[in-house]
Amino acid sequence: MTIRTRFAPSPNGPLHLGHAYAAVVAHDLAREAGGQFLLRIEDIDGARSRPELAEAFRADLQWLGLQWDAESAQSANLDRYAAAGERLKAMGLLYPCRCTRAEIAAAASKMGPDGPIYPGTCRGRRVEPVEGEVAWRLDVDRALAHTGALVWEDALAGPQTARPDLFGDVVILRKEAPASYHLAATLDDAADGVTLVTRGMDLFAATHIHRLLQALLGLPVPRWHHHLLLVDAQGRKLAKRRGSPSLEDRRTAGEDGLALAAALRAGDFPAGISLGEGVG
Ligand code: GLU
Repeated sequence: MTIRTRFAPSPNGPLHLGHAYAAVVAHDLAREAGGQFLLRIEDIDGARSRPELAEAFRADLQWLGLQWDAESAQSANLDRYAAAGERLKAMGLLYPCRCTRAEIAAAASKMGPDGPIYPGTCRGRRVEPVEGEVAWRLDVDRALAHTGALVWEDALAGPQTARPDLFGDVVILRKEAPASYHLAATLDDAADGVTLVTRGMDLFAATHIHRLLQALLGLPVPRWHHHLLLVDAQGRKLAKRRGSPSLEDRRTAGEDGLALAAALRAGDFPAGISLGEGVG
């Protein structure tokens, strides 16, 4: 089987060194196996998305010496997300929810991997599903009853038992955006024939949900490779707001991108930066 990996940046802000590392990992795992490397622009995050950044992303990858075999953008796949949403609704697994973030934070009693766990307020309620005003949540217990226990395989961490219940009833179709990250990324990885999903450890837990969606929607199951993140001296993942220069700034300042990619491969990081789990 040919290996196919992808790098899937969101154009919400410029890429930084952490993204460069993720792109090098995805690219090299494909190339070492004679496989393909794809670029996917995850541009459906409504207000935060700045599609014009995609052009800088391409220039950044070229500067790093990373060639991609095909490119896609999530904004072209909205019908795919809507169709899957309808299918999950028809299976009786989604319910509309009007709760705001503040209401959930006030009502929640447990924290999950992504923040306060939704306490199920609208499950079993008759919420009028007005378009644009409700989000659609997955009834995770009901979904798991449908699929039974699920497993997945991480190339570094080994076999995993899927624990989507850790998140509670996650949003699948967002109020203000066409789909959640979970639904869109899962559907696109399947449609693009991605066989090895590489991404940072910060998304390790999200894979529990993706595995459940694959089982519900009859999608092929890839392998995963969650790598450590580049972190600062305090162990926090790199972020532009914490002063990490963008790749574009480095590129336009005349830095050698090929040398930077080689240094990332060799684990030779700038002072104060190392690999870690990425707290906060
Ligand atoms: N678009 C996500 C991000 O920029 C990555 C999604 C993924 O690799 O699954 O963090």
